This record gives sequence, C-alpha cells and structure tokens, in this order.
Amino acid sequence: MDDWQRLLRGALRKPEEIAQKFGLDVEEVRRIAKAFKIQITPYYAGLIKERGDAMWRQMVPDAAELKEDTGVADPLEEDADSPVPSIVHRYPDRCLFLVSHSCASYCRFCTRKRKVGDPSKIHPRYIEDGIEYIRRHTELRDVVISGGDPLMLSDRRLEAIIKAVRGIPHIEIIRIGTRVPCVLPQRITEKLVAMLKKYHPLYVNVHFNHPDEITPESSRALNLLADAGIPLGNQTVLLKGVNDDPLVMRRLMQKLLAVRVRPYYLYQADYVSGTEHLRTTVEKGIEIMEALRGWTSGLAVPYYCIDAPGGGGKIPVLPKYLQSITDEQVVLRNYAGELFVYPQVKPKPKRRPRPAVAPCYSFDGAPPMP
Ligand SMILES: *Cc1c(COP(=O)(O)O)cnc(C)c1O
Ligand code: SF4
Repeated sequence: MDDWQRLLRGALRKPEEIAQKFGLDVEEVRRIAKAFKIQITPYYAGLIKERGDAMWRQMVPDAAELKEDTGVADPLEEDADSPVPSIVHRYPDRCLFLVSHSCASYCRFCTRKRKVGDPSKIHPRYIEDGIEYIRRHTELRDVVISGGDPLMLSDRRLEAIIKAVRGIPHIEIIRIGTRVPCVLPQRITEKLVAMLKKYHPLYVNVHFNHPDEITPESSRALNLLADAGIPLGNQTVLLKGVNDDPLVMRRLMQKLLAVRVRPYYLYQADYVSGTEHLRTTVEKGIEIMEALRGWTSGLAVPYYCIDAPGGGGKIPVLPKYLQSITDEQVVLRNYAGELFVYPQVKPKPKRRPRPAVAPCYSFDGAPPMP
C-alpha cells in the first residue's frame, strides 16, 4: 500500500469520530451521513483552526444540509446530457469523462452530492463504454477526466484510462480535474507525475477555495506537477463564510500564481440540495471580480461563471465595463470607475441593414465559430 492510501484509510468518516472531533451531536451527524457522504482526510482536518472557519464550513457536516425546501439534486441536468453513464457531452468538441465515484474528502457544497461516494454510480463497464463513446465521436478533441476525483484511482488504473484516451487519434488534449492537491497532497508522488508526463499535452485543473489551503504540503504537490510540464489551472467555488470576501479571494488568486497555478474559473455556487447555507448572491461575485480586475495581476483574474440550471452550461458574468455602444462610439468604464470613449470605425455609406442580434450559432451542423 502506498503512503497516501494509508493516509486515506485514516480519514474521519464514522459519525461517532466526526461528532467527537468537532463537538457535534452524534445523532445529527448520523442523519446527515445517511443523506450525504462524509469524509475528511486527517491532513485537511488539520487545516481547521476553529469552529465555523473557512475550512470547517467546506468539510464539516452541518444540520442545514437537511433542509429540504431548496435546491435540486441535479441542477445542471448532467444526466440529460449523459449518453453513457460515465460521459457528460454538452459542448461541441469536448466532454467530461467521470472515472471515479470517490473523493479524498467530501465537500459539503458539492454539485454532484447526489453521486459522489456511491460506488454503484461508476462501474468498470461504464469506463469501457466511455472510452468507446469517445472513440466513436470524432468531433471530440478535448476530454476532461473528472469524477468524484480521478486521483483516487491507483496509478495503474488511472494510467490505463489515460493511455486509452491518449490512443484515440482525434483527442488533442486531456485534462484532469482534481481536488487531491488540496485535500490529500501526499497523493501527488514522483511516481504519479512520471506517469502523467508520458501523456502530454495533459492539463490539470485543481480546486482551492481559500488562501490557507495553500500550505507547504500542497505547494510541494503543485510544484511537482508544474515541474513535469503540466499546465495548472484552478477552479474556485464562491462560498458564503469561506471566500465571499474580496480580500480573501484576491489573496487566494495571488497565492495560486505563486505556486504556478493560473486561476481559471470562479463558479457561482450551484443550486444544489443541501447547500443553501453556503450560497451567496450573484452581486457578491460581481463585487469580487471588480476587486480583482485592474487591482492585481491580470493573470490572477479567473472567469466568473454561473453554470446555468437546466443544462445551459457555463455562462460568464462580468461587471458592467461596457456602458454603451453605438455606431459612433463605445463608452467604457475602467476598473477605478472612470469613463472613457472609444470611437468606432466610421460606418460605410449605404450599408445593408444588419440584423440587430448577430447569429452566434450556426444551425447547419457546422461547429460554431469561436
Ligand atoms: C465545464 C465543462 C466542460 C469544460 O468546459 P471548459 O469551459 O472548456 O473548461 C466540458 N463539459 C462539461 C459538461 C462541463 O461542465
Ligand atoms: S472533491 Fe469535487 S467531486 Fe469531490 S466532493 Fe469535493 S467538489 Fe465534489
């Protein structure tokens, strides 16, 4: 058994253990555990400094999860875009490939709360079917290997999957989405990165939500990955009482850059059952984006997206920098709130009238232009 597997074995998961460690009512923890999987690695538990802090709110179960009047089980309607159980194919040229049902620690805000930790959801047969689906769909050029957490698989099983995907001629890039560098950084070993770097171009997207998650251990893990030539991106979820503060978020983004991770997405929390106590308003997200752009390195600014309920996909939300646009001029507001005018190209005389809204999608089956 590898070191990380031993560490994982020691994770807190029994309601009695959790209740005792965090001073909770054991019956309450039992009730929550029946609805949603609970597990916290000893490493991550060690980052929790006090009741209700940012790390606590992400991982320690809360009775608020059992309120039944809000949220839906599958807000993104991923099941509707799932041709085989391990694939979510929503965009023209890329898909998600869900290869593991388990995670090192279970985040209380997880969008896939309904699925994670349930071994019945990902059968080895489903992996075969997923690879077959990707092979048959030649329009795919980008596969996002996700879960659960793909790095919960052994090196051997993970390599078998990556190798099979890499062997498909139309697949140009492979991405892995993982929270392991944040919650179980010991899993990132020399052996693992030596395997991963054989399958370039391979990208890894990690998931950090608070600056205090960037520790010497997680920095070591991220540096190992970066040294293997793996471009690193980060996805953050905007969470109440965790990172819904412009200064906390700015610090997180800056610290990520210092360990060679490029902030990629900041997600508005999805409308998921059992997570209402962790959601913020959208205005809060816009306020945070305003506090990033211009005030710190452009590299530290992620895209702020709402993954639209009903399967609409990720939709970017921007502060209102474009104040008005006419044939003559564009009025822009800069990061500090000052207005500037940009003159438009002089319109040619006697143009044919253009449609008010330019078509952004072609309907003849051709892929839409970027
Ligand atoms: C997020 C996501 C992707 C990847 O989207 P990018 O914007 O390319 O990072 C692909 N498929 C699904 C279903 C997704 O939710
Ligand atoms: S690591 Fe990702 S998939 Fe797993 S519980 Fe956390 S948010 Fe959900």
